[in-house]
Amino acid sequence: MMSTARHELVLILDFGGQYTQLIARRVRELHVFCEIIPFDTPLATLAARSPKAIILSGGPASVYAASAPVCDPAVLDTGIPLLGICYGAQLMANLLGGSVEHAPSGEYGKTTVRLDKSSSLFRGLPAETSCWMSHNDRIGAIPTGFRTIASTPACPVAAMENPERRQFGIQFHPEVVHTPVGPDILRHFLFEAAGCTGDWTMSSFVDDAIQDIRLRVKDERALCALSGGVDSSVAATLVHRAIGDHLTCVFVDTGLLRTGEGDRVESLFHHRFDMPLVRIDASARFFASLRSVTEPEKKRKAIGAAFIDCFAEQARAMQGIPFLVQGTLYPDVIESGNSVASTIKSHHNVGGLPADLSFSLIEPLRLLFKDEVRDLGRALGLPEELVDRQPFPGPGLGVRILGEVTPENVNILQRADAVVERVMRSSGWYTKVWQSFAVLPNIHTVGVKGDERTYVHTIALRIVESSDGMTADWVRLPAEVLEEISHAITSELPEVNRVVYDITSKPPSTIEWE
Ligand code: GLN
Repeated sequence: MMSTARHELVLILDFGGQYTQLIARRVRELHVFCEIIPFDTPLATLAARSPKAIILSGGPASVYAASAPVCDPAVLDTGIPLLGICYGAQLMANLLGGSVEHAPSGEYGKTTVRLDKSSSLFRGLPAETSCWMSHNDRIGAIPTGFRTIASTPACPVAAMENPERRQFGIQFHPEVVHTPVGPDILRHFLFEAAGCTGDWTMSSFVDDAIQDIRLRVKDERALCALSGGVDSSVAATLVHRAIGDHLTCVFVDTGLLRTGEGDRVESLFHHRFDMPLVRIDASARFFASLRSVTEPEKKRKAIGAAFIDCFAEQARAMQGIPFLVQGTLYPDVIESGNSVASTIKSHHNVGGLPADLSFSLIEPLRLLFKDEVRDLGRALGLPEELVDRQPFPGPGLGVRILGEVTPENVNILQRADAVVERVMRSSGWYTKVWQSFAVLPNIHTVGVKGDERTYVHTIALRIVESSDGMTADWVRLPAEVLEEISHAITSELPEVNRVVYDITSKPPSTIEWE
């Protein structure tokens, strides 16, 4: 749906590198729009998009392996400026007549590199700096027309260039933070070699997106399942800007949300932004479907099914609405394996809608990374406490209560959760971690409060850092902050006399307890 022809475009051919998404984020941080596409995208498809530059990503394979991923060799002959990174650089060397060999010793992690400052890539940079390496292979002979512009003791060709053809290969990773001059190198490539001007800004995105949504929806109506989280909130606000009251938001209060969530959503979106909002209090229904369910997967399924039922009933009641707004993000689009064609990936909340409800999807965030969605939220005037929110699971507090989920248990956990958020925010830690929350393990232990014996709940704290939720580590939070949380929970909640801290990473644990 989103046309990008109005922006300068850089294409990143993905050879399966660990850091490919990071390359895209770094390029966009320089205000140049880019997309990640499969390495075997045909030249014609690629050229039709008129990219200002092409970046070849890293990848796990060795270029000399039989099954190595190879792009159309003609990609190297189009005259479009090229930057190969790691595997991408090795592939350039290989396809252009140089050679790649298994290195006598690999290089992993921080490495000192010497840069030739006469290269436009390294202009103004120190002659010696540190960079991030992660390779077993290395370029042996460089192709004709190239010269070596960087080296490390174990890697004589740490970078090479052919300035006339505007082709560059770098063995190290400019996209990771451990290469401090990385952003400068990318900037030099994009702005000097490739002639980009940096026309990708949030305000231009907003204008284009609004125009696209209007063209698509015309006089029809759209529906949005608003959860109160960052993605659906930003998507709904953007679509509302475009089509006003033709958008109706549906907020399902499952009873498993944070304290005050329904009121917060209503006061912001309905009262302040004047958006049509249907608020469904479905807590009784959710609690009924969770009665005596204790097995985690069964709980998740019960909650998912109840959500679909509620949303579907509402959608039927409002019949004849052809569009459904979803807050799908770019990483989901890439992971579904196809970033060029308009793949439809349904949101976990409303995927699985019954067949009689078929919507065309509006996914206005499908080209954005999470940090860009937050910027967009700010640009649209959403409050900071919403825009900086941590991820919250679809099944809500239901998967943070072990054993049966009852209104009483949810109420205890909601109050503990509110304390955790309050202290994390006041201590400045809330935005430094990936997630911080309370869990109710449904364990009673003996305690003493005011000289009296108690036999009440334990609260577990789960506070983790992560870059994508796939792996995570527990946060070494200062003892004083942990103490403040523990003290506040045990003083404010009569139902709790003990607080414990979860010190496991993912793997072997998961972030949520269920
Ligand atoms: N597999 C190649 C090597 O080991 C490239 C690695 C990479 O792109 N990070 O050298």
